[in-house]
Amino acid sequence: MGEGHPECPERLDAIEDRLLVTGVGDALDRRDAPSASPSDLELAHGRMHVASMRGLSDTLAEDIEAGGPTHAQIDPDTCLGAHTWSAALHAAGAALAATDAVIAGEMENAFCAVRPPGHHACRDRAMGFCFFNNVAIAARYALERHGLERVAIVDFDVHHGNGTEDIVAGDPRILMVSFYQHPFYPYDAPHSDAANLVNMPVPAYTRGMEVREMIEHSWMPRLEEHKPQMIFISAGFDAHREDDLGQLGLVEQDFAWITERIKQVAKRHSAGRIVSCLEGGYNLSALARSVEAHVRVLADL
Ligand SMILES: [Zn+2]
Repeated sequence: MGEGHPECPERLDAIEDRLLVTGVGDALDRRDAPSASPSDLELAHGRMHVASMRGLSDTLAEDIEAGGPTHAQIDPDTCLGAHTWSAALHAAGAALAATDAVIAGEMENAFCAVRPPGHHACRDRAMGFCFFNNVAIAARYALERHGLERVAIVDFDVHHGNGTEDIVAGDPRILMVSFYQHPFYPYDAPHSDAANLVNMPVPAYTRGMEVREMIEHSWMPRLEEHKPQMIFISAGFDAHREDDLGQLGLVEQDFAWITERIKQVAKRHSAGRIVSCLEGGYNLSALARSVEAHVRVLADL
């Protein structure tokens, strides 16, 4: 994203370091992320959007070659660098490979430590550090390519997953439950009132205990009713109280609690199947500790 941007490569280094130093990493089955194909991306995106990202990337490569600018600006927060196209394909590819592995029974669940994130990427638009919607693509892939009939998407990033909502609103096969700080970024994005969405906007400075109570009352009955055969998580950790990109008051234990609740639903209805993809989380220390807490629950550590 360029110098000084919060969505930086150090985010994944911080996670990696934390998993190493705590020994959690030793317990994990690590896999490299293959690249998604354009037709996979089109499960959630318009063909024009995929083509325009590729075109922008090709033009940028020529510009860089000619000594021109190193980044192509998409919006004030989002720009494309020399390696963005490839990284974005691998990020989506990670979610797809995880979906394959989990459905094949090679593992019960998976966490995808990916950049760039995805949940602001709309069907036809990149925005908010996101180019392709990793979780929405994987959810559609589970339905279209693996023949599942019902899945759920859980989004606990501090920001509204407007991109995922844009893609899945009105698709009764996908139940999306989320909470997010409101009013907040992305300010002008529409909020759909489609029946398959459980939106839980919360004011700034809401703390973890209040969020847990709301999750219990608004997400849980809908998840139980939907009986998802697989659960996808947009795992953003920027609702952490140490994260300056949001003003919510969650801590690691809250992320562990949410993961535990999702896992209980998955055990009852989905044969435990969960694919979780990293979204936000910009305070490196809080991000690393929160991912550790999330992964510990997923991996029963
Ligand atoms: Zn976020």
